[in-house]
This record gives sequence, structure tokens and C-alpha cells, in this order.
Amino acid sequence: MAKPNITLVQGDITEQDMDAVVNAANSSLLGGGGVDGAIHRKGGPEILAECRRLRAGHYGRGLATGQAVATTAGRLPARWVIHTVGPVWNPGEDRSVLLASCHRESLRVARELGARTVAFPAISTGVYRWPIDDAARIAVQTLREEGEGFEELRFVLFNKQAYDAFAAAL
Ligand code: ADP
Repeated sequence: MAKPNITLVQGDITEQDMDAVVNAANSSLLGGGGVDGAIHRKGGPEILAECRRLRAGHYGRGLATGQAVATTAGRLPARWVIHTVGPVWNPGEDRSVLLASCHRESLRVARELGARTVAFPAISTGVYRWPIDDAARIAVQTLREEGEGFEELRFVLFNKQAYDAFAAAL
């Protein structure tokens, strides 16, 4: 299969016209700040309603770090939101495997849905404080290794510093 087509844009993940957009969620699945806040704000209450149903069903204890699960994208241009929980940066413990897992599991869920195009934010680099250069390296490497067969995998970076870090990693 063809090598994944990995693209970069500086912008807002809620505005991406892709099959699926990945949310840097928290394990409660019930909303937060950053990307999560923007997705629920713009996507509308349908997304949260589906997250609540997930919590009432298979995800009674929430979504574990490194895992991913899909919901509708509500009013966003995308069809699906894939929620994943990034690891909190901890200088005393290497949690790279968990950050890679977020990307790998999101791709697995996207494949199951039949998504051909997927947008990712810079998971864990906001409130969870992961250094942007290191997060970019892990994200790019994982999409390269695991992203075969997709038409486009797009990183959507909110500011120039993040964009430059991902451009360097790519
Ligand atoms: P985490 O809790 O995983 O760190 P955050 O949402 O706090 O997640 O931040 C992840 C990254 O997403 C940060 O680099 C932040 O600047 C960026 N970000 C915040 N809002 C948006 C948005 N609307 N679109 C794309 N990226 C965003």
C-alpha cells in the first residue's frame, strides 16, 4: 500500500472538512478546555449526548489514556469525532508509548469507520504540557508507521510554533 499522505496546516481543527477529526479529550469524555472545548462548542450538544451514552455503557469508568472512541461530529464539517486521551507530560517517566498509542488507536478507529481522511491536533501539547518538538516527532513517526491506506492524514496546528515543530519532524 501507498505511503501515507501526511499534510500540515496551521488552523482550527473544528473547521477541517475531513471525514474524521481527532479530539484531545480527557478520560471523563464529558468535555474540557482547548481542542475539547472548541469541538463541543462548535459541534453542538449531540456530541456530548453521545459521550454521555458511552459513559453509561461500555465506558463507565471513562476512556483510558492512549485509547480512542468515535462519536458523531454534530454540526462540525467532519462526519466523526474520534476522542482520544493523551498522557500528561511527566519529566520523570517516559510516556511516549501512550502518546503513540493515541495516534495508533485513533487510526484504528478511523479505519473501522471507513474514514479516508483524518485530522489530528497536537495531542497532549496544551494543558497536558508535552514539549512540542517531542510530541511532533512521536506523532509524525506513528502516522508514518501506522497510516497506510488513508487518502490524507492532516495535522492541524493552532499556532506557528507548533506548525514549525511539526514541519521539522516531517
Ligand atoms: P491536551 O490536554 O491533550 O494537552 P489541549 O486541547 O489542551 O490538549 O491542547 C492540545 C493542542 O491543541 C495544543 O497545542 C493547543 O494549542 C491546540 N489547540 C487548542 N485549540 C485548538 C483548535 N481549536 N484547533 C487545533 N488545535 C487547537
